[in-house]
Amino acid sequence: MTSETCAPRFSPRFSRRIAGLEASPIREMLAIIDRPGMISFAGGLPAPETFPDMQQLAVPPAALQYGASEGDPELRQAVAAELNALGLACTPAQVLILSGSQQGIDLVGKLFIDTGTPVAVEAPTYLAALQVFRYFGARFTTLDPNLPAAGLATDERPAFAYAIPTFQNPTGHCYDAAQRAALARACDELQVPLFEDDPYRDLAYDACERTPVCARLQRASWVYQGSFSKSLAPGLRLGYLVASPDLLTPLVRLKQAADLHSNRLSQWYVLGQLRDAGRPARIAALVEIYRRKRDHFVQGLERYFSGLADWQVPPGGLFVWLKLKAPLDTRQLLPAAIERGVAFMPGEPFFPERPAGCGALRLNFSHASVEQIERGLAILAELVAQAGSG
Ligand code: PMP
Repeated sequence: MTSETCAPRFSPRFSRRIAGLEASPIREMLAIIDRPGMISFAGGLPAPETFPDMQQLAVPPAALQYGASEGDPELRQAVAAELNALGLACTPAQVLILSGSQQGIDLVGKLFIDTGTPVAVEAPTYLAALQVFRYFGARFTTLDPNLPAAGLATDERPAFAYAIPTFQNPTGHCYDAAQRAALARACDELQVPLFEDDPYRDLAYDACERTPVCARLQRASWVYQGSFSKSLAPGLRLGYLVASPDLLTPLVRLKQAADLHSNRLSQWYVLGQLRDAGRPARIAALVEIYRRKRDHFVQGLERYFSGLADWQVPPGGLFVWLKLKAPLDTRQLLPAAIERGVAFMPGEPFFPERPAGCGALRLNFSHASVEQIERGLAILAELVAQAGSG
């Protein structure tokens, strides 16, 4: 069939929602990262050398059959056990296996958001969550555990608060105990459901409070979600959510409508990994690899960016948030950086209000080699210095 015979005869009439659907800057960046020789500080890509070897797998036929929308019972049980050990009391019946934790963002967005619905988010926050919530029509308000009532006491009560308290994307920040308590108290007092997104929790390089904020809630409804993308491999497309019982039925129905159930082959594989006695050692080895990369990265920043930028050393996760001293629109730095073979994520799309220039950029340190980190940071610093003096 030629493209001409595929052309529509009439203009298709799309839903009104589609007007709010934007391209993902991250997905577009992935095509750039794939160019040969490109040094990538852009996506949140785990290091491929840490991926599991799957060559010797003997897959049971049941792993290829249709399954339950909620997920395979044994996997739900294993996830619930892990979360109880982390301090989040839950039963396997509260666990819903997801096709990547990105699906949880979509399901929670669908559950709560109509056009104009207020949603409280950190600023900056995960841009693909902003993209989904915006698509459903969200109006953003600011969540900040350092503000009175965590910023949730607005004229109109937010439909929910979305937070990444542990090794935040993009800042790497980890809420301390007081910030966790403040957010939980605000959600309880103001009756705002909490949506806690926690894909980076296993990647802890320094000692930090990591007990989920949801574990502190007394009255507010909640959804907590995690992912196997960072601790195992993102191509498995497997994550999970755990929710307070009042939210479970609609979430399961939304999941059914979206994809019936998550990939059973991945669920079978991940269950084997969770049951494997070697799992804690494997995570410890992964953390060691990333800790070393983080340390190299921070040393590189000290070498090339002192005087040009400020940053916090991230205690975990995959990102450094670099705040430039010059108030540049970092989107304008990107073409020249790509031309010189270095990719990064400009900071602006991480803010709900998408400011004209935020002078910050997100740098990923897990994917590039030590040698690439050195070369890439030197190039970036040169471009920042030129732009700042121009
Ligand atoms: N939430 C956050 C904060 C993320 O950074 C990511 C991806 N990096 C996701 C959710 C989605 O991850 P996945 O779908 O691979 O589980």
